[in-house]
Amino acid sequence: MSAEAPNAATPDSGVQPGFMADPTAGGRFGEFGGMYVPETLVPACQELDRAFRSAWADPSFRAELTDLLTHYAGRPSPITRCDNLSQELGCTVLLKREDLNHTGSHKINNVLGQALLAKRMGKTRLVAETGAGQHGVATATAAALFDMECIVYMGTVDIRRQELNVFRMKLLGSEVRAAESGSQTLKDAVNEAMRHWVAAVESTHYCLGSVMGPHPYPWMVREFHRVIGDEALQQCAGLLDGGNPDVVVACVGGGSNAAGIFSGFADTDAELVGVEPAGGAAVGRAVPGIVHGSHSYLMQDEWGQVLEAQSISAGLDYPGIGPEHAHLAATGRARYEPVTDAQVVEAFQLLARTEGIITALESAHALAWIVQAQDELEGKTVLLNLSGRGDKDVAQMMDVLA
Ligand SMILES: *Cc1c(COP(=O)(O)O)cnc(C)c1O
Repeated sequence: MSAEAPNAATPDSGVQPGFMADPTAGGRFGEFGGMYVPETLVPACQELDRAFRSAWADPSFRAELTDLLTHYAGRPSPITRCDNLSQELGCTVLLKREDLNHTGSHKINNVLGQALLAKRMGKTRLVAETGAGQHGVATATAAALFDMECIVYMGTVDIRRQELNVFRMKLLGSEVRAAESGSQTLKDAVNEAMRHWVAAVESTHYCLGSVMGPHPYPWMVREFHRVIGDEALQQCAGLLDGGNPDVVVACVGGGSNAAGIFSGFADTDAELVGVEPAGGAAVGRAVPGIVHGSHSYLMQDEWGQVLEAQSISAGLDYPGIGPEHAHLAATGRARYEPVTDAQVVEAFQLLARTEGIITALESAHALAWIVQAQDELEGKTVLLNLSGRGDKDVAQMMDVLA
């Protein structure tokens, strides 16, 4: 789904001020974003755009979502001040604890929002893509809660690698379908899920897992994760005597947890840093292109073919990045830094040893950058979005460290 012409269904206007303002009506963040989908999908994206706008402006929808986030997901997540780690690194490290949410990561914020929206739209079925299985499990969780049918597409290779998550999704009542095309991983699962959506759009909502894809997804998913940044801004003001952290850092796969925490601080003087795996550095390589419905940065070979990302953490090995991050990079509001797998393994152990927290390997990327940038960060206050817990990664680390 990469060769279609841009769809200018609505005129671009009405941009809000601010560094992370709403996109234009056509879904643009600067030159990035848009709705590059086959004609058959345009009405579905437009219907979703209208439904989201109306729901997001409706106080009763907001109240219902907040109630779910509070009483089901466990929000607000706390901020932990890491005294041991701070002493070791020479800067003050604060963790926003998204690992403490139900299902163990930030992903629940987005799937509860989308499932509630799907219900409001009269849809009875969710379809989702998943790579490592985390978004599939979160979607299956929301589907169980809302008594909706759920089909999760997963690359054949990933199904083999992530059998525990496949079993979890089945326990939760979902069907897992193999995406057998291409490299049989995440990008192929996205293609299959989109194909399914086109064919069954009357009854089905496509629950996309990050700030990617055609408009309105990058914007809508950011808005569902904005709660991370809104909470953190208030919590930091309390902890830092009315001040802000100097630096806000988050790992970036598609970019949803980073977009969530950045959105709280974009209009403060905090520096924003997104950390990518060195083997999947979509911004680092900065090749603009179109993948999965939007114009952004992605990893391509010289022929324009999308490259496979390589990372120790399956949750970050997506070859592209959400369009708003491409815009934040292009305008210089945020910077994006790569770290290697070896640095991530070190950081994973460091947090366990100093603070008694076993982090997800994804979030360990953000800590790995703090370790790398120690000199630059001396004496500063750094807020790290701890996107998830590491229980899922312990077996893999046992092999790595054997
Ligand atoms: C899925 C996942 C990520 C990557 O997704 P983003 O959209 O980049 O946030 C990061 N951390 C954890 C724990 C995840 O499960």
